[in-house]
Amino acid sequence: MTQGRGGTIFALSSGAPPAGIAVIRISGTGARTALAALARRVPPARQASLALLKDPMDGGALDRALLLWLPGPATVTGEDMAELHCHGGRAVVAAVESALAALPGLRRAEPGEFTRRAFENGRMDLNAVEGLSDLLAAETQSQRRAALAMAEGHFSRRVEDWRQRLLDLSAMAEAALDFSDEDDVPDDAIEGRVSGEIAAMMREVGAVLAAPPAERLRDGVRVVLAGPPNAGKSTLLNALVGRDAAIVSDIAGTTRDRIEVPVAIDGVAYLFTDTAGLRADSGDAVEAIGIDRARAALDAADIILWLGKTDDLPRPDAILVAAQSDRAGAARPGLRLSALTGEGMDALRAMLHRRASALLPGDSDHALHARQRQRVGQLFAHLQGAVATSDLLVAAEELRLARGAIDALTGRAGTEDMLDRLFSGFCIGK
Ligand code: GDP
Repeated sequence: MTQGRGGTIFALSSGAPPAGIAVIRISGTGARTALAALARRVPPARQASLALLKDPMDGGALDRALLLWLPGPATVTGEDMAELHCHGGRAVVAAVESALAALPGLRRAEPGEFTRRAFENGRMDLNAVEGLSDLLAAETQSQRRAALAMAEGHFSRRVEDWRQRLLDLSAMAEAALDFSDEDDVPDDAIEGRVSGEIAAMMREVGAVLAAPPAERLRDGVRVVLAGPPNAGKSTLLNALVGRDAAIVSDIAGTTRDRIEVPVAIDGVAYLFTDTAGLRADSGDAVEAIGIDRARAALDAADIILWLGKTDDLPRPDAILVAAQSDRAGAARPGLRLSALTGEGMDALRAMLHRRASALLPGDSDHALHARQRQRVGQLFAHLQGAVATSDLLVAAEELRLARGAIDALTGRAGTEDMLDRLFSGFCIGK
């Protein structure tokens, strides 16, 4: 990995050309000189101005562009930065990039290198970096909201508050240790205060851990359609996702395997699974495998839409659907639904939304990924270890380990390969 090299970097930070405008960002000590070389002047800081860019090699016109000069450290990377807002044509971008690459000390940025510099210069912690990564990948509105909060540092500030409080607690515990030989210091009082504050922090950390995880936001709430063959599962799935995702036929057992369809409805990501009909007497080996997989899908489901008999409900919380309600026949219990006429479809969507919302991080929750949850879990365990002991020495050590978990959480103590992996997941120019 060559990440983290020095020098002044540049990259196209807007979308792929051709586009209306192309934003080329430059970051590093050479940003000012680069501006001066192409525009022959440096505009006042943080004020947009128009200039004809010229190739410093031959004086040929490159493009007319909007310039921004952003002196560090109050920039996104913490370094001197410049932006060139050019016309978004391929040749324009190529010409400006070549002119920049020819300048001494300038080179093309690697994926995520701007963000990495922001992290290394203390402008963002690891949690905010992950939030930004999620924000760029967000496809649904609920993903966007959670990622934006993370990128904006809501969780980072919370963690920084915990870190400060832990430092105070460690100092108190150390002081109590130092004075524990002297009879005149009431260390019982100090110990009481320390454990009281740890307990308060444990409640906060525990609440953060108890919130729904971020993965469900990203991967979608798992909805499984199940029931006997020909109940109308495939047709209902198609009606829900609005396209012909599943094979529909009236030969029993057509859906031989699971069909998974990721889809966003009302701003929420779902992963719908259409399962093979649950027929115990199937003689077909392939269909039997499908049925096994259907059972596995049912086990992993967040929400089950059951199109079978009430008595066979696979889980008490499954939603009982009386499908094909437009067909003549006795009224059945459950949500009356017809994929054909649309009866009950809005009610079903609303019901799914209500159920899904309860499974997803809310706007006031921090949506944590597995990495973050693991560290927050360690923090919680060490706090628990600190209150559980009557030995002040052990408590002080647990508090130190708790701080270690926080440093790993924020990236203050991070391994190089983990950082390489994280940043290389970004696009170039970010
Ligand atoms: P699956 O085996 O449970 O996936 O069932 P399918 O979705 O393949 O449906 C079986 C048959 O019932 C097909 O011929 C569908 O066209 C028909 N069907 C499904 N849903 C409805 C419905 O709401 N109304 C009517 N009239 N027919 C339906």
